[in-house]
Amino acid sequence: MALIVMKFGGSSVADSDKMKHVANKIIARKKGGNKVVVVVSAPGDTTDDLITKCEEITAEPNPREMDMLLATGEQMSISLLAMAIQAMGHKAVSLTGFQAGIATNDEYTRARVQKINPKKIFSLLDKGNIVVVAGFQGMNKAGDITTLGRGGSDLTAVALAAQMKANVCEIYSDVEGIFTTDPRVVKDARKIDLISYEEMLEMAGSGAQVMQTRSIEVAKNYGIEIHARSTFSDKEGTYIVSEEKIGRKKMENLMVSAVTFDKNQVKFSLIDLPDIPGMAAKIFSSIAKLGINVDMIIQSAAWDKKNDISFTVSKSDMKKTQQKVDELAKELGAQKVTCDEHVAKVSVVGVGMKTHAGVASKMFDILAKNKINIEMISTSEIKVSCVIDEADTNKAVNELHKGFKLNKK
Ligand code: ASP
Ligand code: MG
Repeated sequence: MALIVMKFGGSSVADSDKMKHVANKIIARKKGGNKVVVVVSAPGDTTDDLITKCEEITAEPNPREMDMLLATGEQMSISLLAMAIQAMGHKAVSLTGFQAGIATNDEYTRARVQKINPKKIFSLLDKGNIVVVAGFQGMNKAGDITTLGRGGSDLTAVALAAQMKANVCEIYSDVEGIFTTDPRVVKDARKIDLISYEEMLEMAGSGAQVMQTRSIEVAKNYGIEIHARSTFSDKEGTYIVSEEKIGRKKMENLMVSAVTFDKNQVKFSLIDLPDIPGMAAKIFSSIAKLGINVDMIIQSAAWDKKNDISFTVSKSDMKKTQQKVDELAKELGAQKVTCDEHVAKVSVVGVGMKTHAGVASKMFDILAKNKINIEMISTSEIKVSCVIDEADTNKAVNELHKGFKLNKK
């Protein structure tokens, strides 16, 4: 008998009809002779709505109470879904994160899973139940509820699949799988059949709205095969697997697998800094201390004992960064600071880059032919990113998608 973990995102359980549809899908898998563990997110926009409610009360909520609040969304889903399954004549039990044995550290709102003890889940499965687990939540040593960061239900599903040695981990959402780029921007974006963990990590980090990053890391570390697919169709989705599974052949055929973009970027530049040791160290340690993640960094070659340092952060960190950078400019003797919030990052991602030379130059060429100016560049083994004017994003994404032959065949 196979063990299946099925995870349903918020849009799959947004109302009672969808809930019933999901219940039917789950029952079909149970009837197929499988043991089924279901992980479910809060319905629709519930988590965002809870955050808004909190903001109406205080700008600085106590983190413990925040998690107490946020965890309620998933509890609505598990109880209603268990009822829906029962109403269709099948055995189901809902469990909170704690009841499912998910132990985390103390970092409220972004806790890390430390241990899972699935004893209770196994025993309920053995009695013929479908077990419905609340995603996104666990419990710390003190016995308090914690949450696993936004999108954390993916992590619950993958971590349970790893711990319970499930045969498959299926991630259901309202899209058919992982696409070569955002289908809302490129009409003939294609669903990808197979993609590697590494590519998924780069895609998640470069703006694609895919799975939670940490869940992909866990899947990679434990070799859990993920099938990302649609709740509302029976078509196969995208399998997320190791590079070895994908095999050389595909890697050699494709230069890049996907084009991604991120409009949530702001670029800061410190102009005419003294060219002496310690400048970059001072700037980036001060920013790191504020808990701000810096994405791209470039430093210009020195000229006349001065140089410029530019970097990007996400838009939500703009105000805090601006304050800090203004202080630093005075302290370090920069001539001025500039800030550009109308930038975007476009990236091409693919394991094929390991065997194909010239991906970066081809990308630059495509952008140049379309008169799109490149403001910053960064590369990894399987990704090339360029910061451009935000207004050029759609054009850049469409042209790169076409230029790298990712369009529907
Ligand atoms: N409900 C949580 C969120 O919206 C967790 C999840 O959906 O995975 O972030
Ligand atoms: Mg959600």
